[in-house]
Amino acid sequence: MTRADAAQRLAELRERIHHHDYLYYVEARPEVSDAEYDALLRELKALEAEHPDLVTPDSPTQRVAGAPVDAFQPVEHRVAMLSLDNATTPDDLREFEARLSRAQPGQRVGYVCEPKIDGLGVALLYARGRFVRGATRGDGRVGEDISANLRTIRSVPMRLKPGPLAAVDELEVRGEVYMPRDEFERLNRGLEEAGEPTFANPRNAAAGAVRQKDPTVTARRPLDAFLYHLSWSPGLTFASHWEALEALRAAGFRTNPRAVRAESIDAVIAACARLEADRDALGYDADGVVVKVDALELQRRLGSTTHHPRWAIAFKFAARQATTVVKAIEVNVGKTGALTPVAKLEPVPLAGVVISNVSLHNEDEIRRKDVRVGDTVLIERAGDVIPYVVQVVAAKRPADSVEFKFPDRCPACGGVAFRPEGEVYWRCTNTACPAQLKERLRHFGSRRAMDIEHLGEAVVEQLVDRGRVRNFADLYELTAEEVADLERFAEKSAENLVGAVQSSKTRGLARLLNALGIPMVGERVAQQLAARFGSMERLQAATAAEVAEVHGIGERIAASVTTFFAEASNREVIARLAAVGVVMTEVGFTAGPRPFEGKTFVLTGSLPTLTRDAATDLIVRLGGRVSSAVSKKTDYVVAGDEAGKKEVDARRLGVPVLDEAAFLALARPAS
Ligand SMILES: [Zn+2]
Repeated sequence: MTRADAAQRLAELRERIHHHDYLYYVEARPEVSDAEYDALLRELKALEAEHPDLVTPDSPTQRVAGAPVDAFQPVEHRVAMLSLDNATTPDDLREFEARLSRAQPGQRVGYVCEPKIDGLGVALLYARGRFVRGATRGDGRVGEDISANLRTIRSVPMRLKPGPLAAVDELEVRGEVYMPRDEFERLNRGLEEAGEPTFANPRNAAAGAVRQKDPTVTARRPLDAFLYHLSWSPGLTFASHWEALEALRAAGFRTNPRAVRAESIDAVIAACARLEADRDALGYDADGVVVKVDALELQRRLGSTTHHPRWAIAFKFAARQATTVVKAIEVNVGKTGALTPVAKLEPVPLAGVVISNVSLHNEDEIRRKDVRVGDTVLIERAGDVIPYVVQVVAAKRPADSVEFKFPDRCPACGGVAFRPEGEVYWRCTNTACPAQLKERLRHFGSRRAMDIEHLGEAVVEQLVDRGRVRNFADLYELTAEEVADLERFAEKSAENLVGAVQSSKTRGLARLLNALGIPMVGERVAQQLAARFGSMERLQAATAAEVAEVHGIGERIAASVTTFFAEASNREVIARLAAVGVVMTEVGFTAGPRPFEGKTFVLTGSLPTLTRDAATDLIVRLGGRVSSAVSKKTDYVVAGDEAGKKEVDARRLGVPVLDEAAFLALARPAS
C-alpha cells in the first residue's frame, strides 16, 4: 500500500469508526456487531502502527492514549461559568417569572426545562469541528484541562458531523459528565470485591474519574455526558436555546432526551413535577430541573448578576439526604432468627416522611461504615429505596465514642447467637425463641420435615399468640378440646390436627434434624448426620471435629451443629420430645449389627479400592469413630500405600495395623 493509499484508508476508517461510535454511544442504536466494529478498530491500529506519522489527534485510537500527568493545566473559560439561582417551590418559580416581567415588561416568555444532572460541569472546545480541549468548571472563571480524560468518554465526539457547528473556528460547548447509576453500582461491587474503598454516590465516583491523573484509569470508569449549552460560537446565531440544542444534537453531541419546551410558567411547574416523579427512572442522579428562558435575544437583554444569569433558575427536587444523630443501636430478631442491627435516630424529616430509625443490615455493614452510638450520620432516602446510612460524619464524632460490639446473645430470648462462617448474619439458635417461634413451627410441621398436616399458618398464629405453644414439645401435648377452642376450628378438624401431630412422632432422626431448624442443616445434611450417627444421643455427644468428619459436612456446619446442641433450651426441648415418644433414631440404622461399636480407627495412606470418605462412612455406620492421630486409645490403624508416620506410631504403641482386606473382613459381619 502506498503512503497516499494508507492515508486515504486511515481517513475512511476514522470516519466509519466515529460514525459507529456516534450510533452506539449517542443514539444507542448500533448498526454493526461488536465483531465488525472490532475488525475496523484492529485494521486502524495496524495501519497506524505501520504509519505512525499519519496518526491524527482525533483518531479513535487516541481516546485512551493520554499519558499520566502530575498536575492539570489551568484553562480560562471563554465565558464565565456562572452558577444558577435556586427555586424549591412552585411559588419560587412564579416569583422567577415575576422578576422577568419586571425586567422586561409586556414580554411573553417561553422556557426550556432540562433535568439537572448531579455530575461535573465541563466545557469542551472544538476548532473547525475537531475536539481540542476539555476543562472542568473550576471556580467558574478558570478550570483545569482534563482533555485526556474527556477523550475516553465515547459519547463525547472527537469530530463533529458536517454542518454549521463543524464550520466554526472556535466553538465552546458545556455539559455535564456523570456516571450512570447501574455502572456506578457495578463499579462499587468490583471495588468491594477487590477490597478497595467504594464511592458514596455516582457524583463522587464521576468526580474521581474525571480528575484522574492517569487517563487509562478514567477509561475504565464508565462515564457519560450530556451537552446542553452552546456557550461560544462566534458567527452563529440561533433564535432560541431550543434551536441551539437541536443544532448540538445534529452535530453529534449527546443531548438530554428529557429536555422539553414550556410555553408558560404553569407548564414549567408541571414539567418539574413530572421529572421529579420520574427521577428514579432516569438511570442517573438528577437533583432538579434547569429552567431557562428560551429566546436568546431575551436572555441577552436580561443579562447576569455577578453570580447568576437572570434568565435561568434551578428548581431543586426535595432533599433526599439529611444528617441526624444515632441515639442507640438496637438488635432485632427476624422470624428466621437473623439478628438485624437498627440505628435509632434523632427523628429527622426526609423527602416527606419523618425518619427515626434505619437498618444497619448486619455486623459487616456496621464495621464497614463504623457506625457508633452518638455519631452524626448522613442518611438518604431515594424513591422506593428504604432509608439507609450513607456515611458517618467523622468530624462530628464524640471524643468518647466506642466501636459497636455485636451481641453474642439473642436480645429476644437470651439464647446463644451464632454467626456461621461465611454468612453475614448472626442467628439466634434457640428453637423456643419467641421472636421466631411461628416461623420455626411452620418449618417443623412442613412436608419435608415432620409433615404435620393441618398445622397451617392460621393455627400456628393462634397457638403461639394464646401462649399455648412455646416450643416444639408443647405441640405434642395439645388436646383436641384445646384445639377446638381456636377460632374457625371444628371439632373434627381439631381431632385431625391432634392425630397428625401424634403420627409425626415416628418420622425418624433425619426428618427431626431437618425440622429443628439448626442453622445450615437442611434436608440433605440432616440425612447425612442421621446416617452417620444413627441417634440423637450420639449426635449430641459428638465433638465438632467428629461431626466435621462426615463426608460433605465440614467444619462450618459442624460448628453450627455443636453450637445448637450447646444451647440448654434446645437440649431441654429435645429431651421433652423424647419423653413424649418422638423417635430419636434413624429407622433402619439400629437394626444392623454394629461390630465397630466403641472402636476408634485411624486411617492412613491410600487404600486400594476404598476412598477415605467411603472408609470413614463405613466405620461410623458400623458404630466406630475415626480419629486423626494415633494414640494408646486407638483400636485399629487402617493403612494403605505410603502410610508413613502413623503406621510407625501404631507399631510403636502396639496398635493393630490392618490393610484394606483385613479391615473389610472385620466389617463383614455387618454386610
Ligand atoms: Zn432468640
